[in-house]
Amino acid sequence: MYCIVGAGIWGATIAERIASVLNEKVLVIDQRDHVGGNSASFLDEQTGIECHRYGSHIFHTSIAEVWDYLRRFCDFTTYRHKVLTTYAGKVYTMPINLETINSFYGKNLHPYEVKGFLAEEIARAGITSPNNLEEQAISLVGRPLYEAFIKGYTEKQWECDPKQLPASIIQRLPLRFNYNTDYFNDRWQGLPKDGYFTLFKNILHHPNITLRLNTTFETVRAELPTDVRIIYTGMPDQLFHYKYGELEWRSLRFEWETKAVQDYQGTTVMNYSDATVPYTRIHEFKHYHPEREQPFLCEKTVICREYPQAYDRTQIPCYPVNNERNTGLYALYAREAEQQGILLGGRLGAYRYWDMDKAVDNALHTFQKDIMRH
Ligand code: UDP
Repeated sequence: MYCIVGAGIWGATIAERIASVLNEKVLVIDQRDHVGGNSASFLDEQTGIECHRYGSHIFHTSIAEVWDYLRRFCDFTTYRHKVLTTYAGKVYTMPINLETINSFYGKNLHPYEVKGFLAEEIARAGITSPNNLEEQAISLVGRPLYEAFIKGYTEKQWECDPKQLPASIIQRLPLRFNYNTDYFNDRWQGLPKDGYFTLFKNILHHPNITLRLNTTFETVRAELPTDVRIIYTGMPDQLFHYKYGELEWRSLRFEWETKAVQDYQGTTVMNYSDATVPYTRIHEFKHYHPEREQPFLCEKTVICREYPQAYDRTQIPCYPVNNERNTGLYALYAREAEQQGILLGGRLGAYRYWDMDKAVDNALHTFQKDIMRH
């Protein structure tokens, strides 16, 4: 028997594999009252709009195995994610592309001219080998664009100097010298046609899987058979009662509002890059499903302002803070888990800044490597 702690996308995937491929019993528990972890959504009662509980989650991947796997449980829409950003009262396209650069500088550069134009800005900064997020961003776009679109947003998101953050965070975003406005480069993108709740329900719908919500690991631990294999997708420091110290996380606070207008901002996500605006973005969920005519045309809309905040034990952990201190600390917890035969996984358990597809990919490979061959 297996006990999986956490019904997020990683936990659900590995539960499904064990139940279907190994034909073993799996108990999936989650301390929340819903499945899906931070990718969960709900239907707003008043408007019928599907809202993402913990901020926008768009499925996107270039991994064929992951795309094929998830499409066994749901169809996806053809939605491709586009983001706009507001800076100093004006709206620009994000990630930075030719439109952003031309609007910002009041120019009409062609794709073949823009690199040369930015090269002068980049050279002015004099960075030879970028070692952190700020240097990486400036060496790609120059200081003025960095200060307008990246610095303030990043400071709000991580509440620290971008010089103290790894360059890898900014490499999540493409930089384009054309008018392509896609937020992600991935070949396959979309939203579960019948909602994230249906996707998760279908993944976990198997006679070998028992699901218990509103249940913490501590409460079931004593009842588990001695030969149970524990797979834990929560915070590793909490699992071991913080014995080596606390891992750092970033959290988010969401401020929900229903507006009495058909369309509030004309798009799914509007970022706010000014440091003076306290939130990083506003989500307007109806725009994810223009094909759902009833909620889409309704004279009301649900919006949600996203405020990054420091994590404490009363908050939801959203992002790991992958710096040297935390990487070292995580290694101690990972060793402890291994010694106790507990498998750690998922964004929290692996302490990795994964998108949904990377979590599914990792779950599929972990199943092959650590469970099938165990
Ligand atoms: N970022 C930025 N300006 C933006 C959007 C993103 O500077 O308008 C930077 C910021 O440092 C952020 C990183 O890019 O932490 C990754 O953004 P992404 O949208 O991938 O973050 P997520 O959706 O995971 O919160």
